[in-house]
Amino acid sequence: SDKAASSGEKVLRVGTNADFAPFEFQDENGSTEYQGFDMDLIRAVAKEMGYTAEIQNVNFDGLIPAMESGNIDIIASGMTINEERKNQVEFSDPYYTSGLTIVVPKDNTDINGFADLKGKKIAVQIGTTSMEEAQKIEGAEVKALNSSADTFMELKAGNVDAVINDLPVNDYYIVKTKATDVKRLDDKLTSEEYGFAMKKGNTELKQKVDAALKTLKENGEYDKIYEKWFGT
Ligand code: GLN
Repeated sequence: SDKAASSGEKVLRVGTNADFAPFEFQDENGSTEYQGFDMDLIRAVAKEMGYTAEIQNVNFDGLIPAMESGNIDIIASGMTINEERKNQVEFSDPYYTSGLTIVVPKDNTDINGFADLKGKKIAVQIGTTSMEEAQKIEGAEVKALNSSADTFMELKAGNVDAVINDLPVNDYYIVKTKATDVKRLDDKLTSEEYGFAMKKGNTELKQKVDAALKTLKENGEYDKIYEKWFGT
């Protein structure tokens, strides 16, 4: 941050919860060179706007408060655009379509979809759409944890019957960790769109971000970043 400030560059302060691969995460060394689809995209958006992105790692449920207290300008954190959040923030145009899925132990036979989660123990990440949906399930015991990584740990430890997370996060976990003891179910509960969130009323920034996103979609840069993280 000192480097950017001293060279007179304009800085876009980005908040993320860097525990949500493949959208935002740190490598094994815990480097602050944050990686992932959102990180590449927000850096490209900032660059397009003539800014340098400076990324801060914050708990997911602390992101909107961090913006409200003026510590960050924008949230890039796989955040689903929904009515409740629209009352609190300005969202950019959508940049990714996602949805919720379930992961269970491989040998599980009684949970085949969302309808089978009644009365079950479910791990979710705190403050997410997964938590909101899990809390609607009749008789379910919902464990709200700090990160998606924590939800998988609870499942591995046998402390919960299932986890609910965003589909690409569940799939990335299984592929990256070569997890053979769990499986992701096909049933998809929601269709959700991710947007970058900005402070309520900051329509000036929203317009710049949307314009940059549009340019990146038109000039092929968005597709390149998409291909890097989701291509086969
Ligand atoms: N898309 C989900 C939400 O917005 C989860 C986001 C996340 O955990 N980073 O609630």
